[in-house]
Amino acid sequence: MHYQFSPQSNIARSATLVINSQAAALRAAGNIVHNLSVGEALIPTDPVIIAGAKAALDADYTKYTPVAGIASLRQAWRDWMEVSYGGVFDVGETTVTAGGKQALLLLLQILIKAGDEVIIPAPYWVSYPALVQLSGGTARILETTEVDGWKLLPDLFRTAITDRTRILILNSAGNPTGAVYTKDELSALLAIAAAHNIIVISDEVYSSLVYQGEYISCAAFPAYRDSVCIVQSVSKHFGMTGWRVGAVFAPAAITARVQTLESQSTSGAASISQYAALAALSDADRLTTQMRTALQARRDYMVDTCASYGIALSPAPSGLYQFVPLTSFGSSTTDSVAWCSDILARAHVAMVPGIAFGKEGYVRLSFGGEEASIRVAIDALMKNAT
Ligand code: PLP
Repeated sequence: MHYQFSPQSNIARSATLVINSQAAALRAAGNIVHNLSVGEALIPTDPVIIAGAKAALDADYTKYTPVAGIASLRQAWRDWMEVSYGGVFDVGETTVTAGGKQALLLLLQILIKAGDEVIIPAPYWVSYPALVQLSGGTARILETTEVDGWKLLPDLFRTAITDRTRILILNSAGNPTGAVYTKDELSALLAIAAAHNIIVISDEVYSSLVYQGEYISCAAFPAYRDSVCIVQSVSKHFGMTGWRVGAVFAPAAITARVQTLESQSTSGAASISQYAALAALSDADRLTTQMRTALQARRDYMVDTCASYGIALSPAPSGLYQFVPLTSFGSSTTDSVAWCSDILARAHVAMVPGIAFGKEGYVRLSFGGEEASIRVAIDALMKNAT
């Protein structure tokens, strides 16, 4: 059989594949691999959330839900957006999805026409370029710098715009750098986007994990509500990565298409997961404070452990990761895959190479794991770092 594939499925293999398969081979050979590559908080799901899921099971809420999500969850989520970030949406502008990633894919698929350009500031979350390509668009990567706090500057954005630019993907609070945009910074970018008829897809899945200062959502700018789509998720706020529940908040015309596409693809998020998400959002203040406090302690522990080896990290302003130049570990190489692969082979420590996020010469260290495992991993790393 000669298989023929769609051009859009021709997406690049992940730069983390080499590292993942090397780690799998080490584990298969009986080694313990110290994991600084996790993209989630390794913290058990809170009992309130488990109880919500159990109650839904006991009530036999196991059938199809409305495509856009159960009414109580849509209401709770739009309320949470308003109370937490001043983002005012109707329930009708609120769609529950199977995770933040599906929310992004649905938005890109309904908004992109062949040849359209999507601006993505780098370092970016690994999946953005692939999701754009899957949707038939062209990713236009704009490099940001550590000196500028890894943020897209208005001038760079403005000069990169062409007559094919349709979308800007913003990620504040950001993975992998932890960058958090201020109100003025967002306002400047949103004004440029609106002036050029560009939709801003604002990925805010880490919004509750901000360790200093106030979090400003792109939903907090009523003047730009027609050009902004917000992506949310319970994954990071509540440590619910496996439940697969996200959300889109968008203008009514966009929401209608998102829901039609969702109805013809997944038919919505899993029923039990939606009730679990409802339980989480109903106790959001306590749960997000608990999560933020735990992760801030893990971040500080990682920073202190590195400091004990003479490595100064500036604490990530948000999220789950420290994004660190290889020079901090005494390495002059810029080849992040080779460096990670070498450390994995010698120290059995798994990390994500910077190139997976579009930035060579850096590595992403996750502090999602427990302090004891962070300690063992950093100790092993430092014994072998060059
Ligand atoms: N956006 C960012 C920046 C992420 O880091 C992730 C997951 O790691 C997602 C979106 C997707 O999260 P989920 O699909 O679990 O909601």
